[in-house]
Amino acid sequence: MRIVLLGPPGSGKGTQAVGLAESLGVPHIATGDIFRAEIASQSTLGRLANDFIAHGNFVPDEIVNDVMRERLSRADAEGFVLDGYPRTLEQAHSLQSTLEKLQRPLDVALALEVPDDRIVERAVGRLICPQCGAIYHLTSKPPQLMGVCDVDRGRLEVREDDQPSTVRHRLGVYHRLTEPVLEFYRSRNLLRSVDGLGERTDIGDRLRAALHAPC
Ligand code: AMP
Repeated sequence: MRIVLLGPPGSGKGTQAVGLAESLGVPHIATGDIFRAEIASQSTLGRLANDFIAHGNFVPDEIVNDVMRERLSRADAEGFVLDGYPRTLEQAHSLQSTLEKLQRPLDVALALEVPDDRIVERAVGRLICPQCGAIYHLTSKPPQLMGVCDVDRGRLEVREDDQPSTVRHRLGVYHRLTEPVLEFYRSRNLLRSVDGLGERTDIGDRLRAALHAPC
């Protein structure tokens, strides 16, 4: 199956995309992962992308579209779960024409729905151990000793990404630039919305059920 998974930043989309791809036996293709790998290998593309990503901006459509055109034309992309792409209307149009040329039409666009307030609530109070990456939450998963990692006793920190103003800014960008993508798929009868609140496994079940539900 060929699936686009959409949803606001902090909705749990990345985790669900991995699970969905695994259960369907198709590659999980995430633009964020592709850029991070390019940055780590210090390629030309990585250096270019890093200038935008490090400043909290989107990588320009033209660059993202080129990267995805190449990625989606590979043999293993007969089926896929796309995560983090398309993020703008321009990217949605480019993806559409790429898939038409490849004769690999999209089956469905799944949209995870989580209200902004819940996303801010989750992010605020999240603590991370900079040494081992363990994640805690002040209310839903507190460490045994306040401010200290249960695993390696590292001092827990709040990620810059989880500051309320940063989270609200990212949500604003999502509403302005990415929400039109939902409309793009709705008007083509490809969009199915899924409640993104609740237990991770329940959300996964809902996503799988939505694959076969009528639009
Ligand atoms: P992510 O891991 O999906 O949050 O992506 C990390 C960063 O990569 C984003 O904050 C953007 O700067 C950039 N990025 C990833 N996907 C896209 C995209 N489709 N369009 C523009 N920039 C992107």
